[in-house]
Amino acid sequence: GKPKVVIIGGGAGGATAARYIAKDAGDAIDVTLIEANPTYTTCFFSNLYLGGYRTFESITHSYDTLASNYGITVVNGYAQAIDRAAKSVTMADGSKVDYDRLIVAPGIDLIWDSVPGYSEEAAEIMPHSWKAGPQTKLLKAKLDAIENGQQIVMVAPPNPYRCPPGPYERVSMFAHVLKEKGFTDSKITIIDPKPKFSKQALFQEGWDKHYPGMIEWYGPDVHGGIASVDPASGQVETDLDTFQGDLVNVIPAQKAGMIAASAGLANESGFCAIDPYSMRSKVDDNVFVIGDACIAGDMPKSGFSANSQAKVAAMAVRGDLIDSKVFPAKYSNTCWSLIESNDGVKVGAQYAATDEKIASTSKFISQTGEDNATRQETYEESVGWYEGITTDIFG
Ligand code: FAD
Repeated sequence: GKPKVVIIGGGAGGATAARYIAKDAGDAIDVTLIEANPTYTTCFFSNLYLGGYRTFESITHSYDTLASNYGITVVNGYAQAIDRAAKSVTMADGSKVDYDRLIVAPGIDLIWDSVPGYSEEAAEIMPHSWKAGPQTKLLKAKLDAIENGQQIVMVAPPNPYRCPPGPYERVSMFAHVLKEKGFTDSKITIIDPKPKFSKQALFQEGWDKHYPGMIEWYGPDVHGGIASVDPASGQVETDLDTFQGDLVNVIPAQKAGMIAASAGLANESGFCAIDPYSMRSKVDDNVFVIGDACIAGDMPKSGFSANSQAKVAAMAVRGDLIDSKVFPAKYSNTCWSLIESNDGVKVGAQYAATDEKIASTSKFISQTGEDNATRQETYEESVGWYEGITTDIFG
């Protein structure tokens, strides 16, 4: 029969890989995409949903086109285990899916106890919203319920985590909503385990300009370290202080999606080592790991990165299975963030494979003090990017 490719995870990485293999290999490869959820809500632009710029429907995508237009078998279910010796994936319902090549793209799982007191149950009161879906809606409902004078606290995540500027874009969107309602007595406090963060100068300039006095950011030298959270009281304890939030958004530490570790693909870092030239797993030649679950050198964990890595893996898989030509790996990424209406900023880079890692070859970042027209252009660019990448992922 035809060679079989199985992809675990229908997110930015996995769905792109499925589509590119099916599209470029025509009928020559059998492509199966395993995804736990019936639809996919993007984390990218989920902050814009919180800010009121997007509807939930507009950030939610279906797998129908991948099935109908590309002949991909979409299996809606949870992949429980990988038998790498037998080259077979066992689903939660006990059924098995065999492969010749496997692409693992499960995204992240949260390390609940990285913040003492936090748990999956606590997330119903202190949402993380770091996986999009019901958590995103919960955070939006809690944000919209804030009354003037009530306080918001964010516990930011340690490195490495998905979307380095994401927490700070989110805080900007919180502030936008409060400002629009005239809630000048409410404040947002960020308790950060990191001494610095992505696009910090740009965010802090924007916060001073648009939301003066509304946002306080505390690094570890100020708060002394995050000690615990208490969902019942809304308290966040640090080594030096206690913070009180009517809305507390806890974003814990992260690791590769569970299946990666259970299949022995992750190392002690919690993420999966890959060959920078192909995205092939360092521990199994028949397996590729892409997106947030992999160790991508200089690339940040982003949807843009996952989509870029997926194309390299798709090319390598076609090379393996049907001898199609394999070109040198090239990667790129841009992370846009919205600070206030029409005030968009970005950071990005191009990358190439070296023996050691995926290494950046050139970089760019928005500048402080840019004029309004430039910032509006950057925002509009991000809107175009969203339309483009979601079509590239889902067809
Ligand atoms: P995911 O997109 O998470 O996909 C993984 C999929 O695998 C999920 O659908 C999951 O259900 C499925 N899955 C996992 N395990 C299994 C299993 N065992 N069986 C079946 N299915 C399984 N990136 C950007 O580029 N730009 C942005 O502006 C941006 N903004 C962001 C804002 C926020 C608030 C957040 C949280 C993230 C943002 N990101 C952004 C990052 C981006 O969402 C992720 O980096 C990207 O989704 C990673 O893609 P992935 O394919 O690795 O994982």
